Amino acid sequence: MKRMISCGKLTGTIQSQGLRIGGVSQNLEIGSQLDLTALRDPISGRPYIPGSSLKGSLRAMLERIEGKSSGRGEPCGCGDRDCKICVIFGAHKNPQPASSPTRIVVRDAHLTKDSAEAFDNARKEGGVFFEEKAENLVLRDSGLAKEPRWQERVWSASFDLDILLHIYEGDNPQSLMRYVRQGLGLIQETGALGAGGSRGSGQVKFDVQESWLELEKISV
Ligand SMILES: [Zn+2]
Repeated sequence: MKRMISCGKLTGTIQSQGLRIGGVSQNLEIGSQLDLTALRDPISGRPYIPGSSLKGSLRAMLERIEGKSSGRGEPCGCGDRDCKICVIFGAHKNPQPASSPTRIVVRDAHLTKDSAEAFDNARKEGGVFFEEKAENLVLRDSGLAKEPRWQERVWSASFDLDILLHIYEGDNPQSLMRYVRQGLGLIQETGALGAGGSRGSGQVKFDVQESWLELEKISV
């Protein structure tokens, strides 16, 4: 078994505009015309970005520049030691890959202190935090909009970012960390987070600090 020798950490914020990350429809209030609600923390009611969602976007973005996929549009599962996708994110549907174990941990991103306060105030005072946006299908022959679907977007908010990168013996820590940071940069400069990126949703900006944990100094 390989020895874990270090852990990189990216902390900071994700500033978002028009973020569309869906929750389940059973949260819908009776009488609401929304078809798709925003994902919310069940206790506080505040929106958040699940780690799985950020991790998925990051992986998809890096696979795109590598031209890698296991076919049928599925994530890369080659499991090669030199496939940074499989090393960092794990080999898709590959039970014993040479690349294992998975190096990255992406925590759920909750609202920053300022955004959480803005959310609580908006809720108390009837202010706006979410936008209810209609997505229309425009019929080509008549030009009429058909059956708009109502979606809820987080209008403008910042979330706390927390990504860990486990480093094992034989890894090149700087190269793996640079790759993760490149993926975040690609989301920011060329893509989006959440759904509807091609229609303007999920524009994000990352503000990131990098640090390295010394495992022998960690204790509680
Ligand atoms: Zn791979």
